[in-house]
Amino acid sequence: MGGLSKPPKPPALGAPRQSRGAPRRPASFNGYRRGDFTPEDTARAHLERIERLDARVAAYLTVTADHARRAARASAERYRSGRPLGPLDGVPVALKDVLCTAGVTSTCGSRILERFVPPYDATVVARLHAAGAVMLGKANMDEFAMGSSTEHSAFKPTRNPWDLARVPGGSSGGSAAAVGGRLATVALGTDTGGSIRQPAAFCGVVGVKPTYGRVSRYGLIAFASSLDQVGPLSRDVTDAAATLSVIAGTDPLDATSVDTAVGDYVAALGDDVTGLTIGVPGEYFAAGIDPEVERAVRDAIAVLEGLGVKAERVSLPATEYGIAVYYIIAPAEASSNLARYDGVKYGLRVPGKDLIEMSSQTRAAGFGAEVKRRVMLGTYSLSAGYHDAYYGRAQKVRTLVKRDFDSVFGRVDLIVAPTTPNVAFRHGEKADPLAMYLNDVFTVPASLAGLPALSVPCGFTRAGLPIGLQLIGRAFDESTLFRLAYAYEQATDWHTRRPELP
Ligand code: GLN
Repeated sequence: MGGLSKPPKPPALGAPRQSRGAPRRPASFNGYRRGDFTPEDTARAHLERIERLDARVAAYLTVTADHARRAARASAERYRSGRPLGPLDGVPVALKDVLCTAGVTSTCGSRILERFVPPYDATVVARLHAAGAVMLGKANMDEFAMGSSTEHSAFKPTRNPWDLARVPGGSSGGSAAAVGGRLATVALGTDTGGSIRQPAAFCGVVGVKPTYGRVSRYGLIAFASSLDQVGPLSRDVTDAAATLSVIAGTDPLDATSVDTAVGDYVAALGDDVTGLTIGVPGEYFAAGIDPEVERAVRDAIAVLEGLGVKAERVSLPATEYGIAVYYIIAPAEASSNLARYDGVKYGLRVPGKDLIEMSSQTRAAGFGAEVKRRVMLGTYSLSAGYHDAYYGRAQKVRTLVKRDFDSVFGRVDLIVAPTTPNVAFRHGEKADPLAMYLNDVFTVPASLAGLPALSVPCGFTRAGLPIGLQLIGRAFDESTLFRLAYAYEQATDWHTRRPELP
């Protein structure tokens, strides 16, 4: 075994730039197989980097260093004996703290679950372990995944590795900052209304929200059950494809996971994109969008056209209702899902003179302001007399949002748009909840329609902040998303830039 005993930088899993048609394998898989470095080297390098930098970035709530060393040792042994488990064997991963991890605290960013140690792994976590991935720790997040900045974490705000004065996005901000800051190779996040794509865009990484039903949610702490999906964040498209291939697929433990074939997403990456048609929705370039974001996205569309893709203007007229609909439906479902935190079953308990007082004091002490706002909004919109006017109406408009997409996907293969109207904002800049909600304007429509969507880096502002290009696909057609994103990535070099952390 030659090569480095200690890599100077944690190596990326991503595929080396290869010519079309060549077999593609994630690089660290090759590196491990060649013996250039071992999973133990990679785990050590990452743990050292976390030790050195995470006090400032705050991507992690829990670092599972002992677990990582053990898993890396076992993985190294598999490579030595020539029997690695696949492309994720030995790859260091961060897991959003909304995912249950057996024996490892899973707080969901909340005081109410501060000491909650699940007795089992979420299915996606079990699948990563079975594929040989090395868990580095649990990533910070907005409390119960409610937010767009990770400032709503009950424990600490995460910082954007490109500019520590700015937010990493949210709610999977810890996952995005970990990958962007090279404190993990791959991370899992969850996306209810944008929580994978928006932080991916803000941190200059790839993020994928799979089709609703594509990935099991067993062991995912529920926020809004008609919207929640788990997906990968990674440095490049290849890693995201490899990770989704591992976590996707039906699960007997989650009745909402759909039994439909999971593609070999990595194998499909090199396929030609000539002849694909993309739809460019006018509503996503409306007034208010940052001109630097618009410029970068329009340039990206020109790059795609240069690859033989046909671009067509389309209209998704219900887009303007997306935020209003989402901020009725998501809080309504949350108010119901969060009823289980009553001080009885698990999590925090603040004693009281009777059950009602105990429960209400527990919730008063355990939930932060944003979670309380959502529970109140949701309870209101579901209450007798208001249900039809709010929740019922929102469900109808949700159907209109979905129909917009259905009609456009008759003509185009994919929709291309900005992921967010602006780049990463400063900590404290969006103290007004409505201003924060409006940040999700371009991500909630695909969530409401249940469609797969991906954010891929497409440039930087003059101030050096990353910009994300969003691709939205047909239901269960993640392959085409990956294929186009990969072709774009190969034609550009945004994904090769990395932030210089002090
Ligand atoms: N920012 C949105 C919200 O606050 C989306 C969150 C998410 O996708 N988990 O609800």
